[in-house]
Amino acid sequence: MKTLAKRVMCAAFALVMTAFSGVCAVASGNVVYSGAAGCGKRIAITFDDGPHPRKTAEILDLLAERSVRATFFVVGENAKLYPDLLMRQVAEGHEIGNHTYHHKPMKKCRDGEGKREITETSEAIKSITGKAPVLFRPPEGSYSPSTVELARACGCDVVLWNVDTRDWALAGTEEIVSNVKKNVRNGSIILFHDFTRDGSHTLDALKILLPYLLSEGYEFVTVSELIK
Ligand SMILES: [Zn+2]
Repeated sequence: MKTLAKRVMCAAFALVMTAFSGVCAVASGNVVYSGAAGCGKRIAITFDDGPHPRKTAEILDLLAERSVRATFFVVGENAKLYPDLLMRQVAEGHEIGNHTYHHKPMKKCRDGEGKREITETSEAIKSITGKAPVLFRPPEGSYSPSTVELARACGCDVVLWNVDTRDWALAGTEEIVSNVKKNVRNGSIILFHDFTRDGSHTLDALKILLPYLLSEGYEFVTVSELIK
């Protein structure tokens, strides 16, 4: 029985390992969606599309108040505009990932454009922070096998999420809070945005969610920490 259980565990482990290099990742098609539930009560909150001069700073202030670390998937052209915010993110223990240079969906990229979108963003991040990113999140979550190849060639794993706050769809504060409370579990990667077209619902929801998740015993880690 013990041997059988061990074999099953090894098979499951091999499945994850062949799909993805991380040992605590749940992956499909070489794309990571979450950490493994068995790797502890750890979660990663992620913020896409920034940095934004005001809203990113407000999010960083709130994270600092609660000693919570996050992962920011930045857009290259925004990173170049606000390098001080990237420096602050690194100094405060957050991780920075690549979210393309112009926030262009990969399926709309032609003739080497996809490669440029990824490589120029990684170069921008490295020139600002001294460290190249190891994570890539495609805009709108749309990708193909070639997206994975391009990201890998640039040293990045492709990371999506398994909890969508829907802040991008202009969900209100209560809806964002509810989406997280309903769906969060061990290993969750939660999708937020530095800013949306409307309001401050992301920040308002975080003011409720951070104390709630901490009181539930979750530890906030970066995506790389979650999946390795
Ligand atoms: Zn985005």
